[in-house]
Amino acid sequence: MGRIVDLTHPIEPHWRPSWLNERRVHATFDKGSWHSSIVTLSCHGFTHVDAPLHRFPDGKTLDQVPLETFIGTAYIVDLADVGPNTPITAEMVSARGGHIRPGGIVVLKTLWDQKASHKTKEFWTTAPFVTQPAAEWILGQHPKAVAFDFPPAFCFRYPHLDPEERARHTDRYAPHETFLPHGISTIEYVCNLGKLTRNTVQLFALAPNVVGVEGFPARVIAIEE
Ligand SMILES: [Zn+2]
Repeated sequence: MGRIVDLTHPIEPHWRPSWLNERRVHATFDKGSWHSSIVTLSCHGFTHVDAPLHRFPDGKTLDQVPLETFIGTAYIVDLADVGPNTPITAEMVSARGGHIRPGGIVVLKTLWDQKASHKTKEFWTTAPFVTQPAAEWILGQHPKAVAFDFPPAFCFRYPHLDPEERARHTDRYAPHETFLPHGISTIEYVCNLGKLTRNTVQLFALAPNVVGVEGFPARVIAIEE
C-alpha cells in the first residue's frame, strides 16, 4: 500500500450551529461490563460529503449515491497562494487544473485549514471562495465529486457577519448549485492537503450508510503511490 494521508478534521465540540455535535455515555464500567456512547452529529459538520438532496428536493439521498462517487483518482488543483477573501476564478482553476481527467474527483487546495482554524470566526468570514465561472469550468471537466478545504461559497460567511456588513452583500451563489444537479457530490472541509506530495492521488471519502440523509461526516483519506 502507498502512503496514507488523513484529510479529515477530528470531530470535536464546535460553536457553529451546523457543526454542532453532542455525545453522551450511556453505559459505564461502574455500572456494567462495557463502555458505550451515543453521538449526535450534524450531517454537514466537519469533513463531510453532500448528496444532491442537500440542494434539490428531488435529489438523491446519500444511500442512493453510488459508492464509486466517493472512491477514485483525485486531481489536486493547487491554489495554495490564494489569499483571504479572494475569489477563485475560472482562469485560476483552468491554468492549474490541466491534469484533471474526466470521471475523477477534483480537489481545490487552498491550505485554508493551515491559515485559519475552523474554531475561529476568521476561518468562516475571510476565506477564499469559488466563483460560479470557476465552478462551471470544473463542471466541464466532468468530475464525479469535488472537494474543498475551505468554506467554498462567499455566502457561507453571512451568518457570522455583523448586520451592517451583512447588508452590503447580496451574492447567494454556492458551488453546490452547479455540481449537485448533475449528480456530482461535494466533499467539504477536507484538510491536511499540504501533506500530499503529488497532484494526483487515490481518494476515499467514506461516510456511514445512513438511509435518507442528504450528507454525512466522512473519513476522507488519500493514498499516494
Ligand atoms: Zn454539506
